[in-house]
Amino acid sequence: ELVKNEDLDILEDLGAGNGGTVTKVWNRKRNCVMARKLILVDAKPSVRKQILRELQIMNDCASPYIVGYYGCFPVDVHVGVVMEYMDAGSLDHIYRKNGAVPITVVGKVAEAVLRGLMYLYDVHRIIHRGLTAADIKPSNILVNTAGEIKICDFGVSGELINSIANTFVGTSTYMSPERIQGAPYTIKSDVWSLGISLIELATARFPFMDPPDSSSEADEEADEDRTEHDPNATLPLSTQRPKLDKKPSRGEAKGERRRSRGVSLGGGGHTMSILDLLQHIVNEPAPRLTGRRRSFPKEAELFVEGCLDKDPGSRKSPQELLASDWITKSTVTVDELKKWATSIAPAKAT
Ligand code: ADP
Ligand code: MG
Repeated sequence: ELVKNEDLDILEDLGAGNGGTVTKVWNRKRNCVMARKLILVDAKPSVRKQILRELQIMNDCASPYIVGYYGCFPVDVHVGVVMEYMDAGSLDHIYRKNGAVPITVVGKVAEAVLRGLMYLYDVHRIIHRGLTAADIKPSNILVNTAGEIKICDFGVSGELINSIANTFVGTSTYMSPERIQGAPYTIKSDVWSLGISLIELATARFPFMDPPDSSSEADEEADEDRTEHDPNATLPLSTQRPKLDKKPSRGEAKGERRRSRGVSLGGGGHTMSILDLLQHIVNEPAPRLTGRRRSFPKEAELFVEGCLDKDPGSRKSPQELLASDWITKSTVTVDELKKWATSIAPAKAT
């Protein structure tokens, strides 16, 4: 039997994102903790009903790599979705609080995300319903102290995606070059998003962010891989875009540019404007898993390179990636994942 809103007592806020707020709740009927997401849905009653119907697909999703689903219901202007509570939280919170995720654990994250994606594609054919399948980014990859890593927030409801305001900004930063240019969604788009997410976790830094000030102790590599910006390059995104300013060249007026035009994306301190960022993704070489201060295993670098091929035709498939050395030669055990997750999990309040 599906969960009802009346059964839930609010415990604490877990976070808020685009069009949603997530709360840790206590289910009185079942005597256990769950996570409830409230999504503000700007739609008429018939569309709401359609959304609630579409979300029922989640009932049939059962995989160790997919966050469990317990039910959904209307809550005044919101749609409520109740899911499994993941007690070590999302990977964006984890790396912001604890610094870069150990590269061996990042390998396990890669494996879990790929297995979750393959489950959605193969078992549920979510992609063939014509819906956006997954929104792979660190905040949608959750961890628990049982050492499990799972994905959430994949778009099973096309109506829901249409009804959430502001979706564009929140999801576009992990968007592949071909999708920015208007190509239809494919499995390969999620592989790109995975590659970007893996670099972010391994370096504790969103790879497209402006390089940190040299004075800052913050994380990582500066702009060694950045190429000069071509002011004549065009962004084939839409014919009605505002004219982009010429970017200052490397090293010039960085602070000023940040102050005057920087837009913070996704709350993560990403300081490129959204149009700069989209243009960068389309026109510049893809980021790589390298760092000045850290070095990563060759197999990890190759894996990420396979995810971040700008041409979706030659970009690796989930199957190929799962067969790569970084994944097959991993020696990380569930016990080690448990230990890591327990060491970074927020202290138990209840
Ligand atoms: P976003 O994914 O864009 O950050 P969401 O509204 O989807 O925004 O989620 C907000 C936050 O709530 C996430 O960043 C995550 O830390 C937390 N969260 C979401 N779902 C769960 C869950 N099932 N268990 C624990 N924490 C969760
Ligand atoms: Mg989310």
